[in-house]
Amino acid sequence: MLISEIFHSLQGEGQLAGMPSVFVRTSGCNLRCNWCDTPYASWHPEGTAMEVEAIVAEIAKHPARHVVLTGGEPMIAPGIHELAFQLQERGYHITIETAATVPPRGIACDLASLSPKLAHSAPDARLDDTWRRKHAELRWQPAVVAAWIAAAPDYQLKFVVGSEADVAEIEGLLRETDCVIPPAKVLLMPEGVTVEALRAKAGWLGELCKARGYRYAPRLHIELYGNTRGT
Ligand code: SF4
Repeated sequence: MLISEIFHSLQGEGQLAGMPSVFVRTSGCNLRCNWCDTPYASWHPEGTAMEVEAIVAEIAKHPARHVVLTGGEPMIAPGIHELAFQLQERGYHITIETAATVPPRGIACDLASLSPKLAHSAPDARLDDTWRRKHAELRWQPAVVAAWIAAAPDYQLKFVVGSEADVAEIEGLLRETDCVIPPAKVLLMPEGVTVEALRAKAGWLGELCKARGYRYAPRLHIELYGNTRGT
């Protein structure tokens, strides 16, 4: 499968924030979010073709016992099920970071980190109508989200929030899943790739989380490293 990067870092987002982890970033995505922060794994996919054995060997060079399969969209990477199985066999904790547009189909996973994309992700005129339509059709699939929630031992729903209107949209989407989703499973992250931008939204978003019971999710990697590749 095409691998954009493999690196050892601290998990920056979600309920495992701070956990030393090896990140395996597959290259290629079925969406084209306008603000994508990993264009080298989506809009302009690049990387190295690697066999599952070579990826596992690379992971084993690091001391972490947590592995994060991310992208791009890892669930469209050929061989991803075999890679997850091999990691499970070796006792790793596996987080799968996915936009939840592809069902799990039995993939080995300890934490499904689901990040469905909101309306503000729609790509602009840089892309032709074909891609814009594909993005609109694929980005929100309540049945796929429900399948992940049913299948995974644990899950979190992570959303990037730019404005209070986004929260109303999120709540409407979650109702469409027909799942009982405890508010604590919903993590709201401020939108932004600088500490200043994150802080500017922290006040109102934090208060909103307090009022509704959602989890405010900091973006630790931005604080620690800035918006840099391989972190
Ligand atoms: S789903 Fe993720 S990787 Fe794909 S375009 Fe959107 S932000 Fe980028």
